[in-house]
Amino acid sequence: TLFTDFGLAQPILKALATEGYEKPTPIQAQAIPFVMAGRDICGIAQTGTGKTAAFALPIIHRLSEKPRAAIRKGCRVLVLSPTRELASQIADSFRTYGRHMKLTTSVVFGGVAIGKQERDLSFGVDVLVATPGRLLDLIDRRALSLRDVEILVLDEADQMLDLGFIHALKRIVTMLPKERQTLFFSATMPKTISTLADTFLRDPARVAV
Ligand code: AMP
Repeated sequence: TLFTDFGLAQPILKALATEGYEKPTPIQAQAIPFVMAGRDICGIAQTGTGKTAAFALPIIHRLSEKPRAAIRKGCRVLVLSPTRELASQIADSFRTYGRHMKLTTSVVFGGVAIGKQERDLSFGVDVLVATPGRLLDLIDRRALSLRDVEILVLDEADQMLDLGFIHALKRIVTMLPKERQTLFFSATMPKTISTLADTFLRDPARVAV
């Protein structure tokens, strides 16, 4: 498989060439066609496998198919991540792969002043990467609404549970549109995680590396 086989938009292929990516990794080869087709995904994959590009590339492609002006205090894509470090890395990846397109990306996490994050969201963004606790704080402060989310990504779901985010996740899911695409990734898939996955996903394609 080659990146050119997926039908990704030209500006994305250009960004990949700049990064020097030659071939999709196994998780990318499995996941990208499903995400492009609009399917939900339940994926077992560890960090280091190219998981971030496996969801970021087809998500950016889907956004570019239906460009839309940013919605005040809203986002089109919400990525939930357990830690600030991972959230920042994911946001950097979206910026890198979307560098030749009009794509706005913000990242929000706890432990830093909330005022700048509120201002960043005031005109809306395409992609918001967030840790669950700070996301809820911003919603409670009316700085953000999830009503326009088209695609939801839960990354490292097992780690989010380990860090005690289960109630936050359950609250967040009640605020999301029912009509959406959801991509769920976890390094491990014990019963507790697959039960949680079932509450988010609709007829998911299963991928594993
Ligand atoms: P991740 O598993 O998403 O944390 O990615 C691990 C690392 O692999 C990151 O530094 C990516 O930039 C890099 N990477 C992802 N996909 C590819 C690829 N197809 N070819 C080469 N490097 C890649």
